[in-house]
Amino acid sequence: MSQALIPMTLEERLCDEAHRLGFDRVGIASAEPADGFDRLREWLDADYAGEMHYMHKHAEARRDPHSIYPKVRAVVMVALNYFAGGPSGGIARYARGQDYHAVIRERLKMLGAWLREQVPDAWGRPCVDTAPLLERDFARRAGLGWFGKNTMLIDKRLGSWFVLGALLVDVPFTPSAPFTARHCGTCTRCLDACPTGAFVAPYVLDARRCISYWTIELKRPLDDESRTHLDHWLLGCDICQEVCPWNRRTPLAKVLTPRPDLEQIDAVELLGLDADAFKTRFSGTAFYPRPGRPVLLRNAALLLGNTGDRAVLPALRKAMQDLEPMIADAAAWAIRRLERDKTSE
Ligand code: SF4
Ligand code: SF4
Repeated sequence: MSQALIPMTLEERLCDEAHRLGFDRVGIASAEPADGFDRLREWLDADYAGEMHYMHKHAEARRDPHSIYPKVRAVVMVALNYFAGGPSGGIARYARGQDYHAVIRERLKMLGAWLREQVPDAWGRPCVDTAPLLERDFARRAGLGWFGKNTMLIDKRLGSWFVLGALLVDVPFTPSAPFTARHCGTCTRCLDACPTGAFVAPYVLDARRCISYWTIELKRPLDDESRTHLDHWLLGCDICQEVCPWNRRTPLAKVLTPRPDLEQIDAVELLGLDADAFKTRFSGTAFYPRPGRPVLLRNAALLLGNTGDRAVLPALRKAMQDLEPMIADAAAWAIRRLERDKTSE
């Protein structure tokens, strides 16, 4: 006896199409105000955002996705895996390939075009990190995962090695089931492993103490304590993700694959790049245009100062002549540190 086929809903077909476009996870959230807005306000009021002034400036807009797109009726959330295996390095894993913003935006545009074929006059606005949307909040609401104590969103299969994008649509989709459970249990590995004590409590990060913030967001000379705590991190920091048990079995990424020339970067080579060479080397990656040459070369100089290896002194002396004060300042600090190490031997 043949069974009658149950036609797929538009929501199911949208999710199928998102998977066909390469997204690893997809879900639909209602477009009501963000659940975590009050927590964001408390976090900002505690000054944990440090000098990320844009967080304060656009805070109110993050309350409600209608501030981004007044006609929004649902928020389609997608996740893209960026895990590439390999050893921990001085570059956060998300930054070892092509800039994910462009990759996700392009695919979200294709998803929007597909939606318009199904629903004439439907409209969608892709958002990837740049719009004032609490993306992790909407991803949790769309069923994509739970907030770990390290503040990352975690999926049981992908762990936290994924980036998010959103398509704000004017179609009144039925939302997916939100993710209401939490699976951290009694684990505190991420909190214990953070080398700078950046977690003031589970689920609460003081960005001012975080290596990611120092190496990406801070656009000025670092203070002495931060300089010595960079460890080997040139851009970002993955420690609180690397120790998470949910990140042990993440499959390798299929779309956001790493670029071999970004997996390890020699700090001396980096210090030798002028503005044009830096742009040529890093266009289309998470290095350029932001955070950009001044921040990256500052970080490179500080790392070299922490190596204890005096063979890097010529590169640092050259960097001390750089017209960018932040680079020259970092190089001068690194030279002083290496000279001091020598005299105290
Ligand atoms: S990214 Fe690094 S410094 Fe920042 S909270 Fe995680 S472990 Fe700590
Ligand atoms: S390391 Fe443990 S506490 Fe931290 S996010 Fe992972 S499971 Fe949760």
